Amino acid sequence: MALPNNHGYFGNFGGSFIPETLYSCLEELKKAYARAKKDKSFKTNLDYYLKEYAARPTRLYFAKHLSAYLGLKVYLKREDLLHTGAHKINNSLGQALLAKYMGKKRIIAETGAGQHGVSAATVARLFGLSCDVYMGEEDMARQRMNVFRMKILGAKVIPVLSGSKTLKDACSEAIREWVTSVRDTYYLIGSTFGPHPYPMIVRDFQSVIGKEARAQIIQKEKKLPDFLVACVGGGSNAMGLFYNFFKDEKVKFIGVEAGGLSRNLNSASISYGDIGVLHGAKTYVLQDKFGQVKGTHSIAAGLDYPGVGPEHSFYNDSKRGRYVTVKDSEALEGFKMLSELEGIIPALESAHAIYYLKKLAKKNKGALVILCLSGRGDKDLEIVQSYLDAEKRG
Ligand SMILES: *Cc1c(COP(=O)(O)O)cnc(C)c1O
Repeated sequence: MALPNNHGYFGNFGGSFIPETLYSCLEELKKAYARAKKDKSFKTNLDYYLKEYAARPTRLYFAKHLSAYLGLKVYLKREDLLHTGAHKINNSLGQALLAKYMGKKRIIAETGAGQHGVSAATVARLFGLSCDVYMGEEDMARQRMNVFRMKILGAKVIPVLSGSKTLKDACSEAIREWVTSVRDTYYLIGSTFGPHPYPMIVRDFQSVIGKEARAQIIQKEKKLPDFLVACVGGGSNAMGLFYNFFKDEKVKFIGVEAGGLSRNLNSASISYGDIGVLHGAKTYVLQDKFGQVKGTHSIAAGLDYPGVGPEHSFYNDSKRGRYVTVKDSEALEGFKMLSELEGIIPALESAHAIYYLKKLAKKNKGALVILCLSGRGDKDLEIVQSYLDAEKRG
């Protein structure tokens, strides 16, 4: 059974809960994507840019010191080595080529911390598309360097003043803008969320991660791994790794959500949320008792979203995947652990997954693990420094 079904459902989750005005936009996208998927030249073109521009395939690196320290056998899927420093470029290249394929001249995107905005602005430059990025005013102030990066890349950053002035408001605003300008505009969504067909499209473009990793581990170890571990924000790097192992029932999936500061202040939609509808999809959402979307927090900007991709909600409820939380303070420990043991500074998002290995090791000595190192840590140094300073002050 291929998922999602024709209506965009992964079991009980997904679908497209949208105003009627968006219906034709999504129909057009669905049809264009189905055509592109069958078109050999589309695939050849995408493969070319993934290889020559983004630097795929990425390495599957045996982390010798980390493995010895933990008593596991850990391989890192090195998405941190890609152009722009994270896995997001896989999806942005795919969707920008799809935008061109559809004859669109302009892309719009939403961004929280600015990483997806930078990735969208990058591919817009590459393919000569104009690019408007919607970003909460609050986030713009917190992430000045990424705003500047987008400007250097020729994108227009549009401040969003509604609601909490963060990512969820930027998403809503981008959707509103899309309705009014769909004829020449493509909406480039940054993770496996949103109405059908986006969760499927983003998953497909990110599934190159797991496709490569599966072949690489078989070549290196002559067997499949026991565990796949990845951090989950919207869920794209995790789904990218998991998807090609779906039928390998013995391979266990672990998605690591941002446990933030506490049970009440976090971004762990599956672990601490309830079923609801957010940005066009039925999925786990962090909400209060009135069904209003809750304020979220994570030390890792890329995990700070109150929803999660519907396919992960499905994996959770069908028990195909297990979803766990790692707190801010633990993620910092994961950050230090990989930096000090392997000389690899991870993104704070990925550091959540790294820390979880410590817990995994307790009951699974010697297990073979692939961890998705979704991005590099350069962007996070100031945040880490301020946390470490605060720790010192007590
Ligand atoms: C954006 C981001 C994430 C979270 O997004 P997913 O869609 O859940 O993968 C994780 N890691 C890094 C480095 C990111 O930039």
